[in-house]
Amino acid sequence: MTIIQFTNVNKYYGDFHVLKDINLTIQSGEVVVILGPSGSGKSTLLRCINRLEDISSGELIVDGFKVHDKNTNINLLRQEIGMVFQHFYLYPHKTVLENITLAPIKVRKMNPEEARKGAMELLTKVGIPEKANAYPSQLSGGQQQRVAIARGLAMKPKIMLFDEPTSALDPEMIGEVLDVMRTLAKEGMTMVCVTHEMGFAREVADRIIFMDEGRILEVGTPEEFFNNPKEERTKLFLSRIL
Ligand code: ADP
Ligand code: MG
Repeated sequence: MTIIQFTNVNKYYGDFHVLKDINLTIQSGEVVVILGPSGSGKSTLLRCINRLEDISSGELIVDGFKVHDKNTNINLLRQEIGMVFQHFYLYPHKTVLENITLAPIKVRKMNPEEARKGAMELLTKVGIPEKANAYPSQLSGGQQQRVAIARGLAMKPKIMLFDEPTSALDPEMIGEVLDVMRTLAKEGMTMVCVTHEMGFAREVADRIIFMDEGRILEVGTPEEFFNNPKEERTKLFLSRIL
């Protein structure tokens, strides 16, 4: 079942043509990794999915919602999508548990006790149940990012978007965050991930999308992409990072 569909999508920032004729269909349960050089439009593409950025032309349908249509109730769609950024954006004056339960209680109108129970389950899933009453500043970067993932999951989203979730972390903390993402992927979560972690991309992605200068240049399985890239630009990219 298709859950995300870009059809001839273009986006401009003023005069700057940042996304060029994007056609991309993502199936429910698929894990898609977006690779490409800095400035190629990866974050913009991701942010269009929950309309953190508006598209300029074309059609974008996500979980049945017409994202391109100004009349669409975008808040309903956003409840279905969790997003994790490079920086965690946790509320500094709220505990870990409060960070996770805030949206479910406010937005989903979940009963607070039920929300806390769900949050504890999620903290167990990301491996830090003992941090429930800690404040973000008392956690390592890797732990904070795992809380951010738990917070995203607390809304029971159908789609999780990850924008370089490990890029701001010290190397020894990258693995623990990738492990959580790997678990989510195995459980069948639909995931669109921008990352520079090639091991993760190779192992976990169902499909790799390679972007350059606002275009999708190449799409393939990890096997095809890493072992037999077709485009010169892809080969150059891979030669620089591998
Ligand atoms: P990536 O995530 O691949 O590094 P981005 O989507 O962040 O790429 O950015 C693509 C291009 O769009 C870059 O040249 C960037 O400078 C530009 N850009 C990003 N956000 C904005 C914005 N809000 N206004 C104008 N230009 C932007
Ligand atoms: Mg980016």
